[in-house]
Amino acid sequence: MQLLDGKSCSEKIRQEIAKEVAEIKSNGDRAPHLAAVLVGNDGASQNYVAFKVKDCDEVGFNSTVIRMEETATEQNLLEKIAELNSNDKIDGFIVQLPLPSHIDEDKVILAIDPKKDVDGFCPENVGNMSLGLPTFLSATPNGIMELFRRYSIETDGKHCVVLGRSNIVGTPMSILMSRNTNPGNATVTIAHSRTKGLQELCLSADILIVAIGKTEFVTADMVKEGAVVIDVGQTRVPDSTKKNGFRNVGDVDFDNVKDKCSYITYVTGGVGPMTRASLLQNTLKAHQRR
Ligand code: NAP
Repeated sequence: MQLLDGKSCSEKIRQEIAKEVAEIKSNGDRAPHLAAVLVGNDGASQNYVAFKVKDCDEVGFNSTVIRMEETATEQNLLEKIAELNSNDKIDGFIVQLPLPSHIDEDKVILAIDPKKDVDGFCPENVGNMSLGLPTFLSATPNGIMELFRRYSIETDGKHCVVLGRSNIVGTPMSILMSRNTNPGNATVTIAHSRTKGLQELCLSADILIVAIGKTEFVTADMVKEGAVVIDVGQTRVPDSTKKNGFRNVGDVDFDNVKDKCSYITYVTGGVGPMTRASLLQNTLKAHQRR
């Protein structure tokens, strides 16, 4: 079993980006600029945004965080997005999800200028991805593809089962894995809460990508010997032994599954850091496209 080390992979990507930023600045251009809109006080969201700012600092990007009250209206947020769309000094921005329940996430995503949609969530960018056209690829699936690339994991002709069909992970993941690309060219099955015979299906997977948000859902009896297992799940569970009072738990029962795998990711040093690195790659791309 080999651990897919997203932490060190993402570190390499950040170094590559920092080099490009140094070059941009030495040519007299301004650094890429990422903005993040944070609505409300969700602890996990605040953490994610703080990490994004730290990543920007590390590679030499400018960053701006726009904080809005939990009570901000949908209209307030749409107006903020319109401002960001027309601000020439900002190359790309994200609206941290989830949003408070009184705000329609779809409406918000539709309001973002696709040229600044570095999360890759807008219909235009998702459509481009589906057609294999240049675009901003959704950060988490792209980070996973990058792991396959950097570890030279063979995906061609393999059976890939994606558990979860969300717009931000499962669905784009299944599309990327099925495209005629390398990595890619897999035969993909996408499964969800209505799928029957999940255990059998998972057992048939050469590559199992799990993004359902159910702690340790995938157990050893669901995994084929030699499979590649990617755990996207990240759920906070209370843990009094931790300074912050919680720990992140994945969707895979790592301790019991790992010995069956050829490769496996671990939470939180696997997919999470790769997602963050992808966001930086997209922001650099947005700056280059300007
Ligand atoms: P989501 O929008 O809640 O979607 C969950 C998906 O899992 C849905 O398609 C749901 O099916 C399916 N599902 C739920 N229970 C299931 C079951 N028992 N069997 C089979 N399928 C089931 O989740 P998400 O946004 O994709 O996130 C999934 C997990 O990944 C979460 O833990 C999240 O925190 C984590 N995440 C991590 C990163 C990272 O960078 N590490 C990034 C994004 C998300 P239905 O469609 O039928 O409801």
